[in-house]
Amino acid sequence: MALPLPPLPSLPKLPKIQFPFFSWLDWGKDKRLEKKKEIENKIEQQIPNLIKLSALKYKRDVKAEKDLGLWTRCENCGVIIYIKHLQVNKKVCIGCNYHILMSSFERIARFLDIESWTPLNETMSSGNPLGFSDQKSYTERLIESQELTGLQDAVQTGTGVIEGIPLALGMMDFHFMGGSMGSVVGEKLTRLIEYATIKGLSLVIFCASGGARMQEGILSLMQMAKISAALNRHQNIAKLLYIPVLTSPTTGGVTASFAMLGDLIYAEPRALIGFAGRRVISQTLQEQLPKDFQTAEYLLHHGLIDLIISRFFLKQALAETVILFQQAPSKEIGSIEFRERVTLTKVEEELLRRSIIENENSFKKMLESFLSFIPGRKKAISTDLAFNEVLDEAFDNSLNASITKDFSYMLSSTKLIEA
Ligand SMILES: [Zn+2]
Repeated sequence: MALPLPPLPSLPKLPKIQFPFFSWLDWGKDKRLEKKKEIENKIEQQIPNLIKLSALKYKRDVKAEKDLGLWTRCENCGVIIYIKHLQVNKKVCIGCNYHILMSSFERIARFLDIESWTPLNETMSSGNPLGFSDQKSYTERLIESQELTGLQDAVQTGTGVIEGIPLALGMMDFHFMGGSMGSVVGEKLTRLIEYATIKGLSLVIFCASGGARMQEGILSLMQMAKISAALNRHQNIAKLLYIPVLTSPTTGGVTASFAMLGDLIYAEPRALIGFAGRRVISQTLQEQLPKDFQTAEYLLHHGLIDLIISRFFLKQALAETVILFQQAPSKEIGSIEFRERVTLTKVEEELLRRSIIENENSFKKMLESFLSFIPGRKKAISTDLAFNEVLDEAFDNSLNASITKDFSYMLSSTKLIEA
């Protein structure tokens, strides 16, 4: 039976993306929507004919930045520095060589090749799963931070190019609620790692965090296990490279998970890196701690990190390390299961859906169009009649549910097609 073609100019509805942590937890009503409506109503009352702009939150307010003034003071030595000089100097103090806190936007601008940044999952934002509130509700705090920083959460993930080498990159931002790791940070990083594994990219994560986000309780803590599991696949099964770059401060749950799991661990000079705070340890042990305790230098001396490198040479060092890794002569080559490689983007899925509809139930053509989306595929072998019945069923289902899922299940269960 021929299936009707959907009208081309307007895209048919894509299958609804359900994030794992949205689907199995009942998040209830998102309070931010109510808040948004409240604000909108207020505006409407004041200026009835105001044309409402639907600009996204993560557009930065350039005016606010300009109002900050021209001069700043180094937080380490107190020298007064002209902000423009500081920015050209990669935010390193001219007086004492102290590495001043950088935002994720600045890192992207300073470390990547020009215009090579492609963000992933940039609109993902957290709810308030526990209904947490102290002086303010967690939702309000989120909105405030989002407006202040222009970010959706405390990490930016994506792909970029450093010295001509494509990399998967995670940039944590301490300005967003202390760079704390909630469910969104965890999910974004996990997706980034999985993306890097599938695409065979080396992974670099710039860490800057105060630890797990207390407002999300246990949901923050479980991110540590989730990220670590994804990293295990990336490093030990796919045999790919992962380098965390520890910047000041990297503490708490981040240090306890992905910050310390790198194949090589880099750090910025004099960065604060630790798990619990200095005072907590000192009081628990009833001991005087050394002056340089929890600094990058102290950790290097005790064998916990591999290299302390200034911002001026970081880009080059990363590029050289990745090249060295890629060209290593007797390197083990890892692989992940075929089924795991089959992850289409929603656009690819839609293209596939259409090509299937055009091919009108011809299984061979259908398979071919599916396989054309998978890199490294050569041919499809489908001669078995029983197999065609399986395909039949999968075909019916695939039009309703996620095509990728059904196809990959089908391919892995019948084993008629060799990789
Ligand atoms: Zn200084």
